[in-house]
Amino acid sequence: MALIVHKYGGTSMGSTERIRSVAKRVAKWARAGHQMVVVPSAMSGETNRLLGLAKEVSPAKQTPEMLRELDMIACTGEQVSVGLLSLALQAEGMQAVSYNGWQVPVKTDSAYTKARIESIDDTKVRADLAAGKVVVITGFQGVDEGGNVTTLGRGGSDTSAVAIAAAMKADECLIFTDVDGVYTTDPRIVPEARRLHTISFEEMLEMASLGSKVLQIRSVEFAGKYRVPLRVLSSFTPWDISVEEEAKSGTLITFEEDEKMEQAVVSGIAFSRDEAKVTVTGVPDKPGVASLILGAVADANIEVDVIIQNVSQNGKTDFSFTVNRNDYQRTLDLLRTQVQPATGASDVIGDPKICKVSIVGIGMRSHVGVASKMFRSLSEEGINIQMISTSEIKTSVVIAEKYMELAVRALHKAFDLDASIPAIDEAKA
Ligand code: ADP
Ligand code: ASP
Ligand code: MG
Repeated sequence: MALIVHKYGGTSMGSTERIRSVAKRVAKWARAGHQMVVVPSAMSGETNRLLGLAKEVSPAKQTPEMLRELDMIACTGEQVSVGLLSLALQAEGMQAVSYNGWQVPVKTDSAYTKARIESIDDTKVRADLAAGKVVVITGFQGVDEGGNVTTLGRGGSDTSAVAIAAAMKADECLIFTDVDGVYTTDPRIVPEARRLHTISFEEMLEMASLGSKVLQIRSVEFAGKYRVPLRVLSSFTPWDISVEEEAKSGTLITFEEDEKMEQAVVSGIAFSRDEAKVTVTGVPDKPGVASLILGAVADANIEVDVIIQNVSQNGKTDFSFTVNRNDYQRTLDLLRTQVQPATGASDVIGDPKICKVSIVGIGMRSHVGVASKMFRSLSEEGINIQMISTSEIKTSVVIAEKYMELAVRALHKAFDLDASIPAIDEAKA
């Protein structure tokens, strides 16, 4: 008997019919002798609908006081889901009980709309499991020290599931979603994308942080920190396929690097539209200026991503960086009102219509010429690279947003990731 955590995303919970199918799948695992904890998301579109209502009532700029109320609203989607799933399980003849995050409790900090899990008390859940019940816990939700409801950021149910699996030392955490695993890139953008049988934890962490929303980045961080066996698989296969077959399907996140040594140099391509670029032109090229610019931005709690400083001419230089697109206007305002007067910069300009495209692979550590191949392939498509950032296992470029899909497809082909080319790990299998 194993302790297994299942997570079902919004599309998988998208209708009462699908919820009944989830219940049948979970019941199948429980009947196979496993203790089951299930973490569903809100029904698809529900979180957007709820946050849309909030915007209708209060269209003004967000204030810190508003964030608490947004969590109060957004968390209800998951409450409906756990109740419905628990009912559906009971209709399947199972004993089942549902909990909100605060009832477990899943304790978080107080950073409303992007709270971090601090601890999970599994006493109640263990007692229910011991009594033969399936336990259904809301994804996305937590509670802070003051008893306020919090949410974990968009896509946060992945993190709830992995954190619960970590706290309970579950044997495996299965993330059921609307694709049948982690692909070389988003299969909705590149139909030729190939499913990976395995992906290393480090690569998954980069893919998630660079924009692949198949797993929320914090869920991958948790899996790494607590070594949670993690698999991404489809909830759209027939519910009655055998547990043995299902347990081997999808994509396994691996922690052993050796297995991947023969893998392709580039394992996947990630992209993100959530970026915007700002440039401060004609700043004096002297010590302290970068810290003055970025210090002001950091003080306003704005996260900076790619940074470039150009060669100076006549003692002046241009300084560019990217921020989340939601922070674009705030960043421009702040640079114009605080930084420009303080540095004597000539101008502050920006472009919100950019995107970031990244190639990821642990094979990049031991191969040279990967970045230059990336740049060549983009230039062959006539795509201008505005910024570049690299680390040991990824290279990212900032380009005009209109070229995003073209760039992703070109790179997918250039690095031999298209499905027509047999993958090394498939050849071995
Ligand atoms: P859920 O509601 O189940 O949490 P999400 O929409 O959050 O599902 O994540 C699944 C989606 O992630 C897929 O439908 C797919 O479009 C997208 N995606 C992005 N990158 C990848 C990738 N590399 N592999 C698989 N899916 C990806
Ligand atoms: N329902 C939340 C969202 O839409 C959490 C999740 O689906 O993971 O972001
Ligand atoms: Mg998701």
